[in-house]
Amino acid sequence: MTTIINGKEIAEKITENLKQKVSKMEIKPHLAVIQVGNNEASNIYVNLKKKKAEDVGIKSSIIKFHETITEQELINEIKKLNDNDNVNAILVQLPLPKNINTENIIKTIIPQKDVDGFTAENSGDLINGFAPKAMPCTPKGIIRLLKEYNIQIEGKHAVIVGRSNIVGKPLSMLLLRKNATVTICHSKTQNLKEITKQADILISAVGKKIIFKDMVKPDAVVIDVGIFKDENGKTTGDVDFENVKEVASYITPVPKGVGPMTIASLLENTVELFEQQQKK
Ligand code: NAP
Repeated sequence: MTTIINGKEIAEKITENLKQKVSKMEIKPHLAVIQVGNNEASNIYVNLKKKKAEDVGIKSSIIKFHETITEQELINEIKKLNDNDNVNAILVQLPLPKNINTENIIKTIIPQKDVDGFTAENSGDLINGFAPKAMPCTPKGIIRLLKEYNIQIEGKHAVIVGRSNIVGKPLSMLLLRKNATVTICHSKTQNLKEITKQADILISAVGKKIIFKDMVKPDAVVIDVGIFKDENGKTTGDVDFENVKEVASYITPVPKGVGPMTIASLLENTVELFEQQQKK
């Protein structure tokens, strides 16, 4: 019997707990979301984050800049947010326009307000097995899903398809911390199927339909991070869900799988950063 992992339900549980916690706070945590340009997908994501933040009582501001903003001007704006005691968490919505170097922007955010856990200090802490101020949201959400469903990680072979800085790489570190044996695949990987078939836990974060039934070991746990529109404009993921669910023991759907967990982790990180700052 295959279990369909209900990310939406777990995310709602997390946000309900956060809502209760935030309701007792005299000062509310404040998340600042920076958006440059008018990318349609970014508009949707940014507004969704704001709405979800407000649902739990977190203050959120969308700070939108025209795509003609220069890199230096954007850096100056981030520095203002770094210095603003009323802002606890900073998120820069990616991708940025091509004239802006993403690395320079991320490096400007102070680790104390780095809600995505992307800065050198936070990602370094993750690699070193220390305690980052915030864990990257999607990997954190995936680990939480596995925990909620009592899926054992220790000793298991986890295969991740995709090596991005926001999903594949940090997720590999989190799984390693949980004592999985981790393999990371990418676009230059040869014989992908031979590797994915070895996975006890298979995670795909690519952005195109790439995981089919014959690539999955019977009873594997399959986590689909991909989100994109298919040729009919329907939201879908990397995994051929209907067929793969016949062989998997657990599987996440798209939507209502990993997506809601990413937002729940973002809100959780905002509250955690706020609490860390209050202690100082
Ligand atoms: P990304 O930066 O575009 O990375 C995609 C990765 O897939 C790269 O590492 C790439 O390899 C690899 N890849 C591409 N073609 C491949 C192939 N044929 N075989 C094996 N690997 C291949 O993507 P991302 O930002 O991590 O996002 C991936 C997907 O997850 C997207 O659909 C995105 O929308 C979605 N996403 C969802 C959430 C969520 O909350 N559910 C969060 C973040 C992202 P190379 O490194 O060699 O190019």
